[in-house]
Amino acid sequence: MPELPEVETVVRHLKPDLVGQKILSFQSIWPKVLGNVHKKYFNDVIVGRNILDVNRRAKFIVLHLDNGFIPIHLRMTGRLYTNDNIPTAKHISAVFRLSDKMLIFQDTRKFGRVYWYDQWAEFDQKHGVEPLGELFTKNWLQQSLQGRKRQVKALLLDQHIIAGLGNIYVDEALWSARIHPLISSNNISSVKSNRLHESIKVILEQAIAYNGTTFINFTFQDGVPGSYRNQLQVFDRKGLPCKRCETVIKKIKAAGRGTYFCPRCQKI
Ligand SMILES: [Zn+2]
Repeated sequence: MPELPEVETVVRHLKPDLVGQKILSFQSIWPKVLGNVHKKYFNDVIVGRNILDVNRRAKFIVLHLDNGFIPIHLRMTGRLYTNDNIPTAKHISAVFRLSDKMLIFQDTRKFGRVYWYDQWAEFDQKHGVEPLGELFTKNWLQQSLQGRKRQVKALLLDQHIIAGLGNIYVDEALWSARIHPLISSNNISSVKSNRLHESIKVILEQAIAYNGTTFINFTFQDGVPGSYRNQLQVFDRKGLPCKRCETVIKKIKAAGRGTYFCPRCQKI
């Protein structure tokens, strides 16, 4: 599933194409593609409106109109891209016809959704702090960890606390900060918490610079994969030597997810 860097990559590539375009029509080819709004209402409210901006919030690509917001979630296999015409490709979920191009939402597994919100706050308040935003400070992270007794991996994956982190980047950040994924959050020292804060920001920024990580499903533009996979330090490296100490990397379950860590660098 795309995480923050992958969604940010899609936003950065779509934005110049979309800002200033008028929405001429919307076609939902997959009937359940609209997540929280009825088709007729959605059409009435968006047709004829201009796209003023495109940004990312949590793992959503958000089209800003002058009368509301269209957040789009790619889920497992969603792809959002522009094209001159409606492509003949399979698995098209929805098409926005714009002034001089089409915005195509293609989704093999059909879990991706398009939403509508009149008010930014109504959408925004559903999601936690942005790890690349101003509210994500060392102090905030330390208090968030200390104030809870939760397994740190589960806490970092909780989108209501921090928005946009997923399985890959949480494992990378915990390895970088030398924190065991199963440790209780209130047992993390301030030194390690500060290291984690730095690791999260640095790793996300690097991953964005590499256009994200592609394992199977993530591509942007016309099928370009993200290339951060070659930079991963611990994720997907079970049985291989730790890049810091050469101990064999282990894979366990944490928060229900396959989790990679170094038993020597990340002691509980
Ligand atoms: Zn190690």
